[in-house]
Amino acid sequence: MRRFEMNMLPWNVVFGAGSLGELPDRLDLLGYKHVLVLATPEQTADAERIATLIGARAAGRFCEARMHVPVATAEAALAHARECGADSCISIGGGSTTGLGKALALNGGLPFVAIPTTYAGSEMTSIWGMTRNGRKQTGRDLNVLPKLTIYDAELTLGLPPKIAGPSGMNAMAQAVINAKDERTNPVIRSMALEAIGAIAHSLPVVMREPDNIEARENVQYGAALAGASLGAGVTSLHHKLCHTLGGSFDTPHAETHTILLPYSVAYAAPAVPDNMARIADALGAGKAAAGLWDLAHGMGLPVSLADIGIGESDLERIADIATENAIVNPRPVTREGVLELLRNALAGTRPAA
Ligand code: NAD
Repeated sequence: MRRFEMNMLPWNVVFGAGSLGELPDRLDLLGYKHVLVLATPEQTADAERIATLIGARAAGRFCEARMHVPVATAEAALAHARECGADSCISIGGGSTTGLGKALALNGGLPFVAIPTTYAGSEMTSIWGMTRNGRKQTGRDLNVLPKLTIYDAELTLGLPPKIAGPSGMNAMAQAVINAKDERTNPVIRSMALEAIGAIAHSLPVVMREPDNIEARENVQYGAALAGASLGAGVTSLHHKLCHTLGGSFDTPHAETHTILLPYSVAYAAPAVPDNMARIADALGAGKAAAGLWDLAHGMGLPVSLADIGIGESDLERIADIATENAIVNPRPVTREGVLELLRNALAGTRPAA
């Protein structure tokens, strides 16, 4: 076996439908007495439910979480936390709300409990992100890892298929990127492959049978492992392209991952054939990139950049921004290569790899 290093994150995670009921006791174990509940405006009712469940431990609510954590939102949330004397937070929602919890941990030193309701997987990473003047800054800091994460699949029952599908493919992207990269250690790679299998098997079931709680638990399990593989693993060209599109063209986060993933994988394929074969096996497909395209297409998800408002005239600029700094990737990144990847993603045709 080749030499490798392993630095795992201190995850503390509870899985299982109905596990939200343990929250009050868990807060007491953690010693949190004055808890600020965070949510998006759309999930105010979820925040109310949490506040009711934790009773006198609830110090307040802040239901203004927004995509990509604008600095002004993080500052307003921190001011609210100070006003209500919060000693900790609970984030209930998707990656946007988890991201706000991370911002408060980073800027205000407030520990938090994450209760994820999408498949973004942010709660398993120490990666934070904040947006100032339209530019997203990211970094890694152990302090932003939630002190506890509760995955209760019942909370995802309200997730409509149009959010669930891309969100699941966003998780798939985290896992695939780490399964294909030679820099990933073998333990993380095995977690990533397990995630790929769980998501590929159960996400189409969630889309077809929204009330299937077992399928929802499986996708959550896959999303957690996928997030964990991102948290302890690597990023590459795929993430750079997604950040470029999200940051400079305001494309929707999960859909951008969904569309680009098969083409990013096809780009890397010639450099890492063994890892491609493992990914294809985990997907239950003959070829990795084509299998990912089939999965997305089969669920009726977008497969072309045109579906998120990108046109031919945007491609040169995307390639310029994405390649302005060096990127470590299984196959070396060239501007011409990226342009070809983007042209394929615009055409939306099934990759051969
Ligand atoms: P999101 O959190 O913005 O949620 C999308 C919408 O779905 C919101 O309106 C939300 O309130 C709603 N929603 C969430 N759960 C719901 C449910 N169960 N029922 C009904 N509605 C529900 O989207 P997301 O895709 O979860 O997160 C995207 C953000 O997460 C991006 O900013 C991305 O950069 C970040 N992210 C960060 C990391 C990391 O490691 N730091 C990893 C993945 C994603």
